Amino acid sequence: MQAESVPAYEMFVGGEWVKSHSGRSYPVFNPAVGKVLAHVPKGDREDVRAAVDAARKAFEDPAWRWIDPSKRGRILYKIAQSLRERLTDFAKLETSNNGKPLGQAKGDVAMAARHFEYFAGLADKIEGSSIPVPGSRLNYTLREPLGVTAHVVPWNYPLVMAARSIAPALAAGNSVVAKPASFTPLTLLKLAELCKEAGLPDGILNVITGGGEEVGVALAQDPIIKHIALTGSVETGISVMEGAAANLTRLSLELGGKNPTIVFADADLEKAAKGVLNGIFTNAGQMCWAGSRLLVEAGVKDALVGAVVQGARSMRLGNGMDPETTMGPLVAESQKAKVAGYVEQGVEEGAVVLSGGSSPEDERLKDGYYYSPTVLGGVGNEMKVAREEIFGPVLTVTEFESRADAVAKANDSEYGLWAGVWTRDLGRAHRVASQLESGIICINEEPVTFPQTPFGGFNKSGNSSEQGAEAVRSYVRTKNVSVNLD
Ligand code: NAD
Repeated sequence: MQAESVPAYEMFVGGEWVKSHSGRSYPVFNPAVGKVLAHVPKGDREDVRAAVDAARKAFEDPAWRWIDPSKRGRILYKIAQSLRERLTDFAKLETSNNGKPLGQAKGDVAMAARHFEYFAGLADKIEGSSIPVPGSRLNYTLREPLGVTAHVVPWNYPLVMAARSIAPALAAGNSVVAKPASFTPLTLLKLAELCKEAGLPDGILNVITGGGEEVGVALAQDPIIKHIALTGSVETGISVMEGAAANLTRLSLELGGKNPTIVFADADLEKAAKGVLNGIFTNAGQMCWAGSRLLVEAGVKDALVGAVVQGARSMRLGNGMDPETTMGPLVAESQKAKVAGYVEQGVEEGAVVLSGGSSPEDERLKDGYYYSPTVLGGVGNEMKVAREEIFGPVLTVTEFESRADAVAKANDSEYGLWAGVWTRDLGRAHRVASQLESGIICINEEPVTFPQTPFGGFNKSGNSSEQGAEAVRSYVRTKNVSVNLD
């Protein structure tokens, strides 16, 4: 039997496909079956240099920075349209590389298209202001693009997380060097191809593949780069901040979370249970904003947890390409091992496994990186499983007695990205929302976001906000001009 051929991808620099200058490459896997899916170049500092030079050259060319901004917007809109036309192809590629169910991957591609559409519309609305000052003067501000911006992307939402920060950077007239996560580079490489076809000038979007310790570090330390948008873990955020310090490079850090979902006794428990399940088991729990800590009012704990456990047990694990699948594998063997380690530790600390707690014993799934949807009961806030981001399908359950207790437990975390509140008492819901240390709050709904709404965390969850009209401010600098009129 002939061996299946594995495609070899190249990186995208200056509008051309290139290998790494060292000639090195590495395999990326399909996590559903544990097989090599493709080979991609293993870039390094020299490849980063070439990409940054290409981006700088393209930025200095008036064809992008100084064009009618509505034309820039039209190119971004074309990118969005092409993404929609090829939605299924992109989604299949994402599912093969990341493992998520195809329906979720389709939602991701549509969301990526929405990011380009939203910022396409903003391209000619990045306005300065005129400022009243003493004397006979005209004083005004200009919002200028920064130059070359770097975008370091995680593996959980490979296409959406790239689009989310690249679209505003391009809308503002910058040129971009992007680095996908080493596990999941394929859809971002495809996006580069699509952008070229949509009319994006050569060198305006460059994509370098490879490890964080080589490519990511080189980007963080590069003196030409004017802004780094990182979506990743806290450790990486700290490292990037340290790397950027020498050049005082601006940063947007979108980092991890350990997010509480608070369910009060008066909530619609059926809806809340569904919301809790989707909030933790979508994308196999590999979400920065996963509702990984369920805080439930004592009186309804048994009813709610019973429904959640039943829902967890009825999820169908499988290859994301199978339409019956409701939860795919984890992205990598190492991620599965990390999740299993946390669950073991939780049990040692006294947590009780109410569902899951191991890899599924199903012959059909034996080659993939699967871990069963897991619910841990009896979890106290001091336990590691309640404090650290597991980044997998693991929900912890903790009881609370009063509103104050719920808020105190929710805020007892070094993170602050997302929080959910379920109650029929909207007065209480708004009050709790105002007291929570979280950048995003959903009341009576599972985690939901839109390109037009800000997305950012407090405390160790980050230092900025992507999405929404304000996000574009991260990708411009403000210049003040004073004119003596006499
Ligand atoms: P990660 O931090 O390991 O990697 C993120 C990116 O940074 C990858 O491209 C990686 O190669 C690169 N990188 C790694 N080390 C680096 C270094 N020292 N310098 C520069 N770049 C480096 O994160 P991950 O495992 O890919 O993704 C999961 C994390 O991302 C979780 O903590 C999750 O919560 C977070 N995340 C946050 C958001 C958000 O919007 N707040 C969204 C998605 C994911």
